[in-house]
Amino acid sequence: MSRYTKEKILDLDRRHLWHPFTQMKDYEDRDPPVIVAAKGLQLQTIEGQLLYDTISSWWVNLHGHNHPELNEALIEQLHRLDHVNFSGFTHREAVEVVDRLRGFLPQELCRFFYSDNGSTAVEVALKMAFQFWQNQGFKEKTRFIFLENAYHGDTMGAVSVGGIDLFHRLYRPLTFFSYKTRAPYCLRCPDKPAEGFTLDAPLPDCSLTCLEALEGILKEKAVEICAIIVEPRLLAAGGMIVYPKEYLKGLWELARKYDVLVIFDEVATGFGRTGTMFAMEQVGVVPDIVCLAKGLTGGYLPLSLTVATEEIFQAFYDDYLAGKTFFHGHSYTANPLACAVAIANLKLFAKERPLEKGEPVRLHFQRQLRRLFGEEPYVGDIRYLGYVGAIELVADRATQKAFPVEARVGFKIYMESLKEGLVLRPLGDVIYWFLPLCVTVSEIDEILEKSRGVIRRVI
Ligand code: PLP
Repeated sequence: MSRYTKEKILDLDRRHLWHPFTQMKDYEDRDPPVIVAAKGLQLQTIEGQLLYDTISSWWVNLHGHNHPELNEALIEQLHRLDHVNFSGFTHREAVEVVDRLRGFLPQELCRFFYSDNGSTAVEVALKMAFQFWQNQGFKEKTRFIFLENAYHGDTMGAVSVGGIDLFHRLYRPLTFFSYKTRAPYCLRCPDKPAEGFTLDAPLPDCSLTCLEALEGILKEKAVEICAIIVEPRLLAAGGMIVYPKEYLKGLWELARKYDVLVIFDEVATGFGRTGTMFAMEQVGVVPDIVCLAKGLTGGYLPLSLTVATEEIFQAFYDDYLAGKTFFHGHSYTANPLACAVAIANLKLFAKERPLEKGEPVRLHFQRQLRRLFGEEPYVGDIRYLGYVGAIELVADRATQKAFPVEARVGFKIYMESLKEGLVLRPLGDVIYWFLPLCVTVSEIDEILEKSRGVIRRVI
C-alpha cells in the first residue's frame, strides 16, 4: 500500500504544485481528479471512476492508452539504450523513425532535426528560417508573419508568433516583433455574405478577403520577412477553427510569389488527427519546413521533429569556419526511448491502416455532431475535420453574441463533465472533441450524448 493516499496526493499537490494553463485559485475549494491508470479511451481516477479522455490527453494520444504494442516497444528499448547525447553520436532508433516517416511525408521534406516537444519544434523552425536567410546574406529578413488565433507553443519564439490575446498579449514586450494577419475564421468574418450563411456551408460566396489582407502585408514588407507560419487547415488552440483549403493554398502561393518561406505547424494536426496523415495532404502543397510532435510517439513520450527541405539544409552546409552552423540542441534530443515508441507508432499506421478503416467512424462523428447539436439554441457554429469536432457556444444564435467572460461557461461545463464521466476541456466558449484514431461509433455516441446533457444542464 503506497503511503501516497488520495488525501496526501491532493494535499501535497495543493501546497507545492503549479499546473499548466491553470488558475490555481480555482482549485482552492475543489480537487482535480487523481488519475491512476488509463486504458483505451478511458482514464481511471483513484476512486475508480472512469473518464472519457475526449481530448486525447492534450491532443497527443492516437491509438488509445496502454496499447500493448507501444508498451512492448518501450519496455524492450529500456533493456538496450536509455539515452545518449545526439551531437557526435547517432543511433538506430533515431534513424529508423526518420526512415519510416519518410514514407508518409512528401519527398521534398528530407532533413530531420529532433527536439522534444511542439514548442521546441517551432523554435527550431523559426531559427532555421531566420538563419537560412542570414547565411545567404539577406540580413534584412528578420520578421515572421503569423495568423490571428494562431497557437504555436509557449516558449518565447513560439509566443512571438502566437495570435491568441489571452495567452500572448502580456508577453509582447519580451518577444520579437512579427506581423499578425487576419485569421480565416469564417464564423466571425467581417466580409461574410449576410445571406446564405449556414452552419453546414459557411462560405457560399467567399472571396477570401483574409488572403487579400495577407498579400497587403507581403506587398509592403516581403524584404523583411523570413517566413509565414501557419497551422494547416485547423487553428487548434485558437478555438478549433477549421478553415477552407483555398486559404492554405493561397497562403502558400503568396509565399512563393513574394519569396518568403512557409512553415507548417502540424504539431496538433499531424498523425491522422484531421483524417489524413498530415493536414497539408488535403491541399497538396509542400512547405519549406514542417513541425511535428504530439502524436509522433502515439502520445507516450515527448519527442518532436522539425523537417526541412534540402534547400534549407544546404544553406547551413559549409566549412565550420564559414560560420553557418545551426547552434541549437536539447539534452534529450532524439531520446531513444521516445524514438522506440515513435517507431512502434509508425508501424501501427503501416500495419493497421487506421485512417483508411476510420472513414465511416469519422463520417458518423460529423453526422452525430450535426444531429445532436444542429438545433441547440446555444450553438453558434459546428466545426469538424477528421477526428476533431467543435461547437462554439453563443448567448444569442441570431446575433452570434458571445457569453460574457464572467459567466465562465466553459469552466462550468468542464467541472460538470467530470461528474458525468468525461473530460470537456473547453477553449473559451468552444467545446471540442479531439478524439483518438481508435475511437468507435458507440464511444462517439456515448461521448456526444453525455456532452449534450452536460452542456444543457450548465447553460
Ligand atoms: N503548435 C501547435 C499547433 C500546438 O497545438 C501546440 C500545443 O498545443 C504546440 C505547437 C506546442 O506543443 P507543446 O505543448 O508540445 O510544446
